[in-house]
Amino acid sequence: MPSATSTTSAHTDLKGLLPEQLRALAIDLGEPAYRGDQLFTWIQQQGECSLAAMTNLPKRFREGLMAAGASVSHLQLLERHDSATGMAVKFLFEADAGQIESVLIVDRDRRTACLSSQVGCALDCKFCATGRMGFKRNLGAGQIVDQLLQLHAAAAEHGERVTNIVMMGMGEPLLNYDEVTQALRIIRHSEGPTAGPAVGGRRITISTAGYLPGILRLTEDDLNVGLAISLNATTDAIRERLMPINRKWPIAELLQAARGYFDRKGRRVTFEYVLMDGVTDSDEDATRLAVLTRSLPCKINIIPYNELGASPGVEADAFEDFRRPPKIRIEAFVRRLRENTGHTVTLRESRGSDIGAACGQLYRQQESRAGEQPAAVGVAG
Ligand code: SAH
Repeated sequence: MPSATSTTSAHTDLKGLLPEQLRALAIDLGEPAYRGDQLFTWIQQQGECSLAAMTNLPKRFREGLMAAGASVSHLQLLERHDSATGMAVKFLFEADAGQIESVLIVDRDRRTACLSSQVGCALDCKFCATGRMGFKRNLGAGQIVDQLLQLHAAAAEHGERVTNIVMMGMGEPLLNYDEVTQALRIIRHSEGPTAGPAVGGRRITISTAGYLPGILRLTEDDLNVGLAISLNATTDAIRERLMPINRKWPIAELLQAARGYFDRKGRRVTFEYVLMDGVTDSDEDATRLAVLTRSLPCKINIIPYNELGASPGVEADAFEDFRRPPKIRIEAFVRRLRENTGHTVTLRESRGSDIGAACGQLYRQQESRAGEQPAAVGVAG
């Protein structure tokens, strides 16, 4: 077990630690192990961020934690937007010199938290708003957990709780592997008498643009979560144009990795497929998608493209413009796919598009601070 000096540094975020890590910390500070469990309950189940308020912990323990540089992170909520339909709530948070967004999606008996893993994204997918920000930095595990805690608190206002988690907000989760998986381990653990926002692995999905080393690592990991791969094209030529990462890890390798994931975990991978007018929505695409996935146990989620519009600070014509296909094309694509595969094919309805909270619309211009040049925006890649 790590010593107090190695588990706490100038910036140890207690929100990003598992119960066993908090127990080790307690022992290092000369306290019984159960003090670590109490700390976990305060943070993850009560949502308490102030050590001073944790009154059933000995003062010397709390002071020891503070002296060792430990604190409990809390993302400052900058804006909250509730969609007119009541189907989505978007949260804008400040996360140390960067802003991120999270979305609570309401769908029948499901309350899904769509969480961000990074500030910005390095992958430069041509159709995605976050790609336009470029990569700023990784979020810590505690900051990922905190998004859920704050969304959970919002759901609790209506007597509800978050039932599902998708790592589909800003960023590529598999490029921030350690922090994302640590956060999901903490979340799985949070169940207790006071009912923290625990969500089990069966209701958690990590979505990737196809970072193969990350998929392989997740396949070997004992963390049992769902995997979604953003396929978005049926030929390498088209996919490369839309998603530069395809040059390194082309479609055939992703399909093979999806099979490996199924073989190892017994869970069908979901392929996400964004329909863009005249780019990915032809009859041939539908047929090719059916053929590519025919022998693979998987699900297919069709996402009609959410148009980006001009984002603040970005010239409207600075990027290629993609369009959502007409409804009749979307329906034809889904029908053809269903006729040609035995897979479950779902069509994602846009929730929250009126508040810019739909898939791929999450974008934030970075604030420029006094005395600094404005951060470059819209020069991803
Ligand atoms: N980096 C991860 C997770 C974030 S994107 C990934 O690529 O999977 C979540 C999903 O939104 C992906 O399937 C992506 O292809 C899709 N997406 C991105 N921009 C979109 C847009 N403008 N309209 C519809 N879907 C979009």
